[in-house]
Amino acid sequence: MNYEQQDPDPYPDAVQIDGHAGVAWYVLGLETVPDVDTEWTGTEAQTGNLVCVMVGDDRHWAFDPDDVRTLARADYCGECGQIGCGHDGMDRDEV
Ligand SMILES: [Zn+2]
Repeated sequence: MNYEQQDPDPYPDAVQIDGHAGVAWYVLGLETVPDVDTEWTGTEAQTGNLVCVMVGDDRHWAFDPDDVRTLARADYCGECGQIGCGHDGMDRDEV
């Protein structure tokens, strides 16, 4: 999938996606697709979706921004990407 990074990045941390409970994702950028002018302009059209990958994976998925919710760093595992897992060695203060 093609995408454009946003500057500044509105999703600097991981997110969760409605319908994909329990897994953290990273937002790569805005999905783009070639349109009729791309051959001449070299630019692609934005679809309005966000291209995301699961933490620990590199497969691209596109999601509606309405389904994307920001996630606190302490709420997910940086190794396996599971929400609620803490085995990545991050220091989490138990409250
Ligand atoms: Zn983990």
